[in-house]
Amino acid sequence: VLRLESVRKTFGRDRVILRDVSLEVPQHTVTALIGASGSGKSTLLRCANLLEEIDDGAIFLDGEEITDPRTDPDAVRRRIGVVFQAYNLFPHMTVLQNVTLAPRRVLGVERAEAEAAARELLARLGLADKAGEYPDRLSGGQQQRAAIVRALAVRPRLLLLDEITAALDPELVGEVLSVVRDLKGEGMTMVLATHEMGFAREVADQVCFLDDGVVLERGTPSEVFGTPREERTRQFLRRIV
Ligand code: ATP
Ligand code: MG
Repeated sequence: VLRLESVRKTFGRDRVILRDVSLEVPQHTVTALIGASGSGKSTLLRCANLLEEIDDGAIFLDGEEITDPRTDPDAVRRRIGVVFQAYNLFPHMTVLQNVTLAPRRVLGVERAEAEAAARELLARLGLADKAGEYPDRLSGGQQQRAAIVRALAVRPRLLLLDEITAALDPELVGEVLSVVRDLKGEGMTMVLATHEMGFAREVADQVCFLDDGVVLERGTPSEVFGTPREERTRQFLRRIV
């Protein structure tokens, strides 16, 4: 579904964040991006969603080069759902308004139809009774689940999840991770940046360790966590567990 080919991303003149990143995300699989803070996980996700312009290389979505200057970024973002660490919902809109915004504005779905679809998704993620609430009346975990519903509302091909549990109290992390687990069960293709190694190990089909602007190591969770080939990977894993 998603493919990065020798992607290079710099900020300013000489701050190289992604030096040469190649990555393939097959359909119906989950890819976990791990790596030290500042290793470029968020930048990679932002590049994939065309929120950042890359300096070199190419990114493909369903075989189409989306980094081609002729690509319409809005058309690409319609096919990719994104959830960040925090501040995903518009505070001045109810949950239902948040969720139906993109389907109505971007896809041109009728209000009644958008709302019916939204309520169904909200119910599936355990938020049936929250449709009329404003985000500040929801717990952090509920807000993140609502943010996932909003990302799903355009029926994306791919979900990009950036540290979606990082801002949550520990007791709320589980409910959000279980949503990701369910989506995987439904075959949703996902790329997630995470510091939750236990979860990455459980849910990912492929784990990519980002270090010094490249994917230094890539493999199944048992390869990367169990028998890492690179010394840098071993150091990283030793530091965080
Ligand atoms: P974390 O685990 O802390 O979320 P990360 O792996 O997601 O880290 P990024 O947020 O991608 O890392 O940042 C990679 C580097 O790029 C950092 O050194 C950061 O300071 C730098 N960076 C990110 N965005 C910008 C920007 N808009 N302008 C300049 N530098 C930036
Ligand atoms: Mg980040």
